[in-house]
Amino acid sequence: MTQNKGKALVIGAGIAGLSSAYYLLQKGWQVEILEQNDLTNNCSYGNAGMIVPSHFTPLAAPGVVAQGIRWMFNSKSPFYVKPSLSPQLISWGLKFLKHSNQQHVDHSASAIRDLNIVSSHLYNELAKKEEFDFELTQNGILMLYKTEKVAEEEIELAHTAIDLGLPVDILDKKGIQNLEPNAKLDVIGGINYKCDGHMNPVKLMTQMISYLKNNGAVFHTQHKVTGFEIEGTAIKAVIANDKKFTADQFVMTGGSFLPELAHKAGIKIHLMPGKGYSFMHNPENPANRLEHAALLLEARVAVTPMGGQIRFGGTMELAPHRDKKNMNRVEGIVQSIPNYMPDFRVKLPKESDIWFGYRPCAPDGLPYLGQSAKLKNLIIAGGGGMMGLSLGPIFGKTVSEIADGQQPSADIRIFNPERFS
Ligand SMILES: Cc1cc2nc3c(=O)[nH]c(=O)nc-3n(C[C@H](O)[C@H](O)[C@H](O)COP(=O)(O)OP(=O)(O)OC[C@H]3O[C@@H](n4cnc5c(N)ncnc54)[C@H](O)[C@@H]3O)c2cc1C
Repeated sequence: MTQNKGKALVIGAGIAGLSSAYYLLQKGWQVEILEQNDLTNNCSYGNAGMIVPSHFTPLAAPGVVAQGIRWMFNSKSPFYVKPSLSPQLISWGLKFLKHSNQQHVDHSASAIRDLNIVSSHLYNELAKKEEFDFELTQNGILMLYKTEKVAEEEIELAHTAIDLGLPVDILDKKGIQNLEPNAKLDVIGGINYKCDGHMNPVKLMTQMISYLKNNGAVFHTQHKVTGFEIEGTAIKAVIANDKKFTADQFVMTGGSFLPELAHKAGIKIHLMPGKGYSFMHNPENPANRLEHAALLLEARVAVTPMGGQIRFGGTMELAPHRDKKNMNRVEGIVQSIPNYMPDFRVKLPKESDIWFGYRPCAPDGLPYLGQSAKLKNLIIAGGGGMMGLSLGPIFGKTVSEIADGQQPSADIRIFNPERFS
C-alpha cells in the first residue's frame, strides 16, 4: 500500500463496493463504507458463484423477448416480467426492446468479454493472497442441453465465442459425461467454456470484509444514504442517519437500489431488479458429486459445487423489489434437476432455507461503470446483472484508477453510467 491520497467514501457493501474499497486501499486511499443493512446479505452472497467470460452476450439479445413472453404464462418458468403500469418498468422495457438486436450484441460482445477476462485474472491474483481462500476453481463451466433446438443455438454461440478467442469445447453426450465421472447426465451434449470458473461467494465476501477491516477500512452499517449535499459540480457530503459524511472521492454502488440512490444525487440510472433464488443441497449420495459448475440450459438453472455441497439457483423475475418468496419458481428449479441429473434426489427446501437476491439489470444488459459527467468527484460502479460477481474485481480496479486520475486500463467507454441521461 502507498501513501494516503485522501478519503474515499464507498456507498454499498456488495461485491462492487467491497472490491472498490479493496483497490482504493491498495492505492493508498483512506476508505469508509456506508451500508444500509448489516454485512451478512445482499445479492453478492447467495448467487451461483460463477466467473463467466462466457457471458459475452448481453441480456438484451435477439430472441429473449419472444422466449420471455412464452415463459410469462407459466408460474414455474425461469423468466417472468410482472405486468405492471409502473413507469420504471415501462421505460426499462422500451429500452430493452430497442437493444434486443444482433447489432447491439455485436457492438458489446468484445467489451464485455474483455472486462470479464481481466476480472477473472484479478480473482486469480486475489486467491493467491494468504488472507483469501474462497474455493476458486478455474476449470470451466458446462452448458448442458437436452433438445436439438437449444443445441443448435448453443453451438452457434460457441462458434462466436471461439471467434472471440475464448477456449471452448463443443462436446457430444459421451464427451460431456467424461467430464463428470461421478454424476449421470441425461443430456444430448454440452459446451465446456474452459475460460470460466466458480467460487464460494459467501467466503469471498466475508474474507474481503475481514481484509478491509484489518487494513484500515471503516464500515458504517445500518447507514442508509438518504441525501447528497452538492455544490456546483462536486459532492460535498452524503447524508446517512441524519449525519454528514464528507470525502474527497465518492463511489456509488448500491446494486439493484442504484436508481433511487443516484436519483438523490440528480442522476438518472435505469435498472430493474431481476429477482433470483438459490438453495444448498447436501449430496449424501456420492453419485451426486460434481466436478464443474453447470448451467441446465432449457431450465435456466445454475448448479455449482460449493464447500462440499451443491448450490442450485435460477429464475429471473423482473419486477419492483418485493421480499416475498414465490415457492412456485423454486419448485420449477427443483423439478428440472432430475431431467438433467437423474440420480439427483433434491427435495423442495423449506422456505427458510431459500435465499433470494436482486440482480441489478440494465435495459441494454451492460454495466454502469465510470466517472460521472455531472459530478466530478463521483464514480459509479453497478448494473452487473447476471455477471456482477464476475465483474467485481475489474469494477474495483477501474474505480481506483479513475480516483487516481489515471486512464482506466479497461476500455469502459460503452459502460458510461450516464448513457441514458
Ligand atoms: C440467483 C442468482 C445467481 C447469480 N449468479 C451469478 C453468478 O454465478 N456469477 C455472477 O457473476 N453473478 C451472478 N449473479 C449476479 C450477482 O450476484 C450480482 O450482479 C452482484 O452480486 C451485484 O453486486 P453489487 O455489489 O452491484 O450489488 P449488491 O450485492 O446488491 O450490493 C449492493 C449493496 O448496496 C447497499 N445499498 C443500496 N442502497 C444503499 C443506500 N442508499 N445506502 C447504503 N447502502 C445501500 C445494499 O444494501 C447492498 O448491500 C447472480 C444473481 C442471482 C440473484
